[in-house]
Amino acid sequence: MIKEISLGIGLAGVIFLAISGYDVVPILFLLMAAGILIYVARSRGMLVKSFSVAPANASKVNFEDIGGQATAINELKEALDFIINQDKIIYLGIRPLKGILLTGPPGTGKTLMAKAAAGYTESVFVACSGSEFIEMYAGVGAQRVRQLFQTARDTATKLKKDSAIIFIDEIDILGGKRGQNTSHHEYDQTLNQMLVEMDGLKVNDKVKILVMAATNRVDMLDPALLRPGRFDRQVKVDLADRSGRLEILKLHCRNKPLSDDVSLNEIAKQTFGFSGAHLESLANEAAILAMREGCAEIKQHHFLEAIDKIMMGEKLEKRPPREELERVAVHEVGHALVGEKVRPGSVSMLTIAPRGQALGYMRQTPENDSYLYTREYLENQIQVLLAGSIAEEIVLGNRSTGAGNDFEQAIKTAGQIIKSGMSELGVVDPDILPADLRHKVISSIIKEQEKKVKDFLGSLKGAIKQVVNVLLTEEKITGDNFRKLINSFSIARPQI
Ligand code: ATP
Repeated sequence: MIKEISLGIGLAGVIFLAISGYDVVPILFLLMAAGILIYVARSRGMLVKSFSVAPANASKVNFEDIGGQATAINELKEALDFIINQDKIIYLGIRPLKGILLTGPPGTGKTLMAKAAAGYTESVFVACSGSEFIEMYAGVGAQRVRQLFQTARDTATKLKKDSAIIFIDEIDILGGKRGQNTSHHEYDQTLNQMLVEMDGLKVNDKVKILVMAATNRVDMLDPALLRPGRFDRQVKVDLADRSGRLEILKLHCRNKPLSDDVSLNEIAKQTFGFSGAHLESLANEAAILAMREGCAEIKQHHFLEAIDKIMMGEKLEKRPPREELERVAVHEVGHALVGEKVRPGSVSMLTIAPRGQALGYMRQTPENDSYLYTREYLENQIQVLLAGSIAEEIVLGNRSTGAGNDFEQAIKTAGQIIKSGMSELGVVDPDILPADLRHKVISSIIKEQEKKVKDFLGSLKGAIKQVVNVLLTEEKITGDNFRKLINSFSIARPQI
């Protein structure tokens, strides 16, 4: 509004001067030049940078909307209580909490936590990303940092709030270790300004500012950012465990009609390693699949297919020739038979429908969320990986290139055995191990498992063919149906 009025007055002034007989050409020329300058500066983001601002509760996210992060939430709430109980803080002479750093893998709910923190403390929420501060022009980043803090103060004052939360996502981009970007000092200046602003935050400021930042590369951050008095608290927001995944699934299925056959518990079990963002996407994909099939409710098989989609990628339309399809089926049945052998009940799906990079696949469910593995477990995994190619050899008489990825993983797993001191070499430094010795040990681990798988699958040639026939007709077999099948064929389970 003020801009329009000033423009009107200016224009009227120029017209008045022109009517009074003054030469207004130089004035017009100067105004044009100034306009062009402002336009260029704006288009390059040098003058104005607006940050996403939300008043308290505008985002409507609260801590109850975040699943599987009870420990992180408790830690965070404890820190936020400093903002809520300002009087006590001043009375006890406690230094204000200036920064909270949320660390953890992508999609685990760090942004959600910051939004919920703003709601919890009834603060204004100003969000931005580290990349918004990085520019080619020296000084622009530092200016934006000043602007960011000013925006937080101004917005809080305007909305009559006494606190604001500034959230900087991907802070590693702006707060990386100084002196590493040799081309220019723009990064360093931006970070310096950030430190200056944080140091300037006082307990008796009219608007209390808390800086929250998120990163999954805490090792990249400049130590100056992490020292006490700046990011005082680090809250770890990790991937949720099984019960956490169940909580997140329940949250994202609140607004969805689920059929009676849906077991979110089972879905949580099958989604080890999924982040909150993956689980949100899973619930969404399952609903889309239900809609495509014209179902009024989402069924368990929609969730299972959605897991495959998230893990493997979109289903492909391409249909390999019959002969190749048969080979893929033999390969997957090989994986599944050995998978079921080494961990009964673990096969959750096998299919020959191409998805992403795979022509077919067999998915195994981890029995429990495990983070530590024994040598036996790793050897069993190698057996499962080798089984596809060995099944091809037993049934079709030769192998194919389809097993390249399986072998890569088998070699990696054997390397893990060496690295963890569980090989015949004992505890060694893998980095200085001679390449031929490493190769020899890896080969011997793999050969030993290869022999076991050959013995096992060699006795099951007939059964493999029977399951392959079912797979070729059905295209996919769920874990439960696969177990029913092998029980009906009364497949012997020799010890391997
Ligand atoms: P990044 O590090 O990639 O920025 P992030 O950790 O900040 O990711 P969010 O942006 O908070 O992740 O989460 C993305 C989406 O995933 C959320 O909008 C939400 O739908 C879902 N989500 C993630 N974590 C959780 C959780 N713990 N509970 C419920 N939903 C979650």
